[in-house]
Amino acid sequence: MRTVDVVVIGAGPAGTVAASYLKKQGYDVIILEKEKFPRFQIGESLLPCCMEHLDQSGLLDAVVPKNFQKKTGAAFMKGDKRCEFFFEEQYTSGWTWTWQVKRADFDLTLAEATRAKGVDVNFECEVLNVTCSKDRQIVDYKDIDGNIFTLESKFIIDSSGYGRVLPRLFDLSKPSAFTPRGAVFSHLEDKNRTKEASNNIFVHSFDNNKSWIWAIPFSDGSTSVGIVGDKEKVEELAENNGEKYKKFIREFKDLNGRFVNSELKWEPKHILGYSVGVKQMYGEGFVLSGNSTEFLDPIFSSGVTFATASGLLSAKMTHRHLQGENVDWKKDYEDVVQGGINVFRSYVTGWYSGDFQTIVFADQIQNDIKNQICSVLAGYVWDQSNPFVKKHDTILPTLAKVIKMKEKSLNKE
Ligand code: FAD
Repeated sequence: MRTVDVVVIGAGPAGTVAASYLKKQGYDVIILEKEKFPRFQIGESLLPCCMEHLDQSGLLDAVVPKNFQKKTGAAFMKGDKRCEFFFEEQYTSGWTWTWQVKRADFDLTLAEATRAKGVDVNFECEVLNVTCSKDRQIVDYKDIDGNIFTLESKFIIDSSGYGRVLPRLFDLSKPSAFTPRGAVFSHLEDKNRTKEASNNIFVHSFDNNKSWIWAIPFSDGSTSVGIVGDKEKVEELAENNGEKYKKFIREFKDLNGRFVNSELKWEPKHILGYSVGVKQMYGEGFVLSGNSTEFLDPIFSSGVTFATASGLLSAKMTHRHLQGENVDWKKDYEDVVQGGINVFRSYVTGWYSGDFQTIVFADQIQNDIKNQICSVLAGYVWDQSNPFVKKHDTILPTLAKVIKMKEKSLNKE
């Protein structure tokens, strides 16, 4: 039986960041990936904070020459209201830009760069079963021809994303408290794109904050357009090859005809019920990272940044563990990752309750408040000096309430 130091399950952003970091520390690392790359994945708009994780794992240099679309901010719209955030104005010091990427190209780039560093990256290898203990982990996987292999390792990092290999095998998933929602999406030609729309993700809120549209531009001139809403709405939009989705994005007033004659690059896909929680992010011989942990909602484009953040931290903790340190996985890993997730949970809640919109579309939004919110939107959700991070659970509803009261009293005058 082949023996390695670390098995990483999945070659998405979480897995490649974790594997590359550990390889840099001198470990023998293997990635087992179920799909053949390039493969489609949703999650195309990155946040500036993830650039740090790519850099620390040694993967950033491989992405730069790919000329992905630069993203310098995020614009939120609702009817005639509009609020644009520029990452260069954010409160936390850090990256002021990132990319919007077709994940097929981006993830392939990361996987090839990871392999070039000496990680044994195996595509079309599906992990079937795992047995964990203190020092010895056994992984059974199947290759494309149906051959079954067994590997032994000292540690496992589960970065299997929506596959949730270890949460499934070890009964670690728990339901999300969010309303079940979904999304229907495609890539479209975008001949009417303005320069401003090229550098931004555009997010349009509608249906009384229950639904929204994303427009994520790519460097080849096409744009990803998705509609998010509750389960019933998405099922209806997705029927008959997305007939109603196509009509909606051509006619939706706030898109100002941007996609009125645009060809779709492929028939719309849809995904339902993606929000999921986790009971515990680690156990004897393993740790979970990326979407194997918890996934909230796509509204603030935080998924890949959480994948790279938790991929990197899981690798750092694994390194310490393999060095013989007594790692406090709860305090040094789970609480840190969960802390960031909890910040975004408050913002996702604020988005669907409308508090976020009340604040950002207020007649006047103070610059310091805007810049502090901007840091959250850039992914810097671990900066406790930012009141919009530290007091994340109370600050949005309180501020929204004050704004509404002010607006009410002004209307009375
Ligand atoms: P993945 O990217 O899912 O990679 C996991 C890999 O594991 C896959 O390649 C899979 O094939 C492999 N795998 C699964 N099972 C097995 C197995 N048994 N054996 C071996 N390999 C296996 N995030 C953003 O940052 N920006 C966005 O704009 C954004 N938009 C989104 C829109 C929607 C509608 C949704 C639902 C999500 C969105 N996300 C977004 C979230 C994003 O998709 C994920 O957070 C991100 O892809 C997680 O990365 P990962 O590395 O954890 O997992």
